[in-house]
Parts: sequence; structure tokens; C-alpha cells
Amino acid sequence: MKVFDELDAWRDYRAGREAPGFIPTMGALHPGHLSLVQRGVAENPWTVASIFVNPAQFNDPADLRAYPRQVDADLAQLETAGVEAVLLPNEKALYPDEYRYRLSESELSRRLCGAHRPGHFDGVLTVVLKLLNLVRPASAYFGEKDYQQLQLIRGMAEAFFLQTRIVGCPIVREVDGLAMSSRNLRLDPEQRRTAPQLHRVITTAGGPGEAVAALADLGFEVDYVEDVDDRRFAAARLGEVRLIDNVPLVEPAP
Ligand code: AMP
Repeated sequence: MKVFDELDAWRDYRAGREAPGFIPTMGALHPGHLSLVQRGVAENPWTVASIFVNPAQFNDPADLRAYPRQVDADLAQLETAGVEAVLLPNEKALYPDEYRYRLSESELSRRLCGAHRPGHFDGVLTVVLKLLNLVRPASAYFGEKDYQQLQLIRGMAEAFFLQTRIVGCPIVREVDGLAMSSRNLRLDPEQRRTAPQLHRVITTAGGPGEAVAALADLGFEVDYVEDVDDRRFAAARLGEVRLIDNVPLVEPAP
């Protein structure tokens, strides 16, 4: 597996090759990420991943500092999974403009998580556009765990006539229902025991109000629970750790 921290070397390697599959990540990889990688490897002649903890999408500097980093273990997992090349750029390489240019979206990015994390989605869209332009993939893979992010990336691809197919992949969960997330590593043992209740409550509560009350009783600090179209979205904190989840709303049988 080739690892590129220099973008010039990456561009030389990419030149003249057919379009790969691509999985952008912030590292601290777990089976959720690897499900995307496996799909990419299965569907494409070659596969590229990236690891970059993107400062532009962290509205909270403490969250950026505490974000788990384990590059060596990540690279070993990507190699085993069959990835051919990994982009590992530093901040200067990816932001030669020193953050002067930003992509912004004015509606969906302001709702749900966007209402609680100002600027977050503009930071995500900006880095994803940079990475898609560098990699020029045929298909790029994103998890439904970050459902709003997936919707916004699809919208961006359409709005800017990108040549990449945006592929959504199902949420991978722990056996107790907790959606896998790099941030789960930061839960203490008691918080880890409480965390799966987020999924249980949003799956079983009759409405968002009922879910908010049940989560508060369990010790979550709730950012929101909202039903939008046929899906329920939630974000809640345990201590410093913010968890998100979403589930399809099932129609009661007639
Ligand atoms: P991140 O490293 O958190 O930026 O995530 C990289 C990609 O992996 C994003 O497209 C996420 O939606 C996806 N992802 C993260 N956790 C999961 C999960 N539990 N199931 C499916 N996809 C996930």
C-alpha cells in the first residue's frame, strides 16, 4: 500500500490511471469505516482512502484536540482491507489558501446538527470537495451514520456537476445497538453502558418529545430529536462526548 503525504507525489501516481473508489475518513478506524472500504474494494478496480482530521469542521477546539488519532493502526487496517493508496495530507497541504475559500450551503446545513454546530457542514463540504478534486474517484463512499452529511454531499455533487457517484452505506452498530463512532473511544465505562440507550430510545419512543424526556432521564444532554420525512434524527451528549444517530420511522402495520 502506498501512503502519500505529499500531494504532488499523489498527483503523479494518479495521472493516467482509471478512476478509483474513494473512502474519506478522519481516522481512528472501526468496523463502520471498514464496511465502506470493503464496498469500495469490491466495486472498483482500485481503492483510495484518506485520513485527515479536518480542523474546518470542528466548531469546538476542545473536540478537535481530543479527537482520537491512531494512524499506524489505521494504515495496517486499510492495507489488510485491500486499499491501494492512502492520502495522509497535513493541514498546510490541504489548505494552501489558509481557509480563505469555503463552500457553503444555506438550508439543510443549518438544521439538525448544523443548528448546534455552526459552520460544521460548510467545513465538511469544503474538505470533501478538495478531496474529490484530488482523487477524482468514480465512486465515493459515505456512511448513513452521518445521514445529514451524506445528504449534503449528494446535494453538492449535484449542484457542482461532480463526476463522482456518491454511495451511501448502512450504519454499522455494536451488538448493543450503539452506532460505531471514533468518538466512542472517549466514553468512560459508565457512559459506555448508557450510550446504547440513545438508539433504543429513538427506536421505541412514540414521538420526539417522548424521546427527549426519556434521554434526559437517562442522563443525556439532548441537542435534538427530530422526525424529518421518514427518518428520526438525534444528537445527545454524555459528558464531553457528543453522539449522533438516526433510524428509519416504520409505519405501524394497518
Ligand atoms: P469519519 O472518520 O467519522 O469522518 O467517518 C468517515 C466515514 O465513515 C463517514 O462517511 C462516516 O459516515 C462513515 N462512518 C462512520 N461511522 C460509521 C458507522 N458506524 N457505520 C457506517 N459508516 C460509518
